[in-house]
Amino acid sequence: MGHGVRPTAYRRPVASEKGLALVVEDERSIADLIRLYLERDGFDVRVEGDGRAGLAAARAAHPAVIVLDVRLPELDGMQMCRALRDDGDWTPVLFVTARDDEIDRVHGLELGADDYVTKPFSPRELVARVGAILRRSGRDEDADSVLRTGVVRLDPGQRRVWVGVAEVELTTTEFDLLAHLMRRPGRVFERDELLSQVWGYESAVGSRTVDVHVAQLRGKLGADSPIRTVRGVGYSVRKGT
Ligand code: CA
Repeated sequence: MGHGVRPTAYRRPVASEKGLALVVEDERSIADLIRLYLERDGFDVRVEGDGRAGLAAARAAHPAVIVLDVRLPELDGMQMCRALRDDGDWTPVLFVTARDDEIDRVHGLELGADDYVTKPFSPRELVARVGAILRRSGRDEDADSVLRTGVVRLDPGQRRVWVGVAEVELTTTEFDLLAHLMRRPGRVFERDELLSQVWGYESAVGSRTVDVHVAQLRGKLGADSPIRTVRGVGYSVRKGT
């Protein structure tokens, strides 16, 4: 999200090679070390010391990547990441954790955490991980790459969908809804989110519309439909192949 797209006000006279990396870390010495290595690697770096300031910076400056400590004052790293995801902002995040057991919590929340390092980490390794998640997310954002879940295959460029070898005819809305869900397997979308992100509606009025379209989609995809109902919340496409 927002790679390289920054408001003019944030652009420096000499553009950095790799864009802005936002580092949210309350331990000054660690933040300084990360800044040093990321700058050396060609990033502009902005450091914030708590989750609330980090969230505001992410929303205002649209970084290319966020290096996010889990334990932070105000909002912790997971809460900050959740708030961004709720905005529909899927900026790649590298989590920095203090303990291995925090990793399970990060993954359990399905925040789209792209990777993590555990303290103490080598700064070189952190820079390598940041480079790797940017390469991966660049691929993910390729609008023409084919999406697959189980036997369901969706080609965004051609706007065609197959179940196994059989092509399925979808309406424009059904296609957009399925593509939206398949782009983030495992992520649970609330009806209101889908209305605003797929239909472009501002209000929650008519969230029944989502249920109707999901039912139609399931009817067309048959037993192989990857769409899962999360009771009381919304819909998700199951992870994995
Ligand atoms: Ca911390």
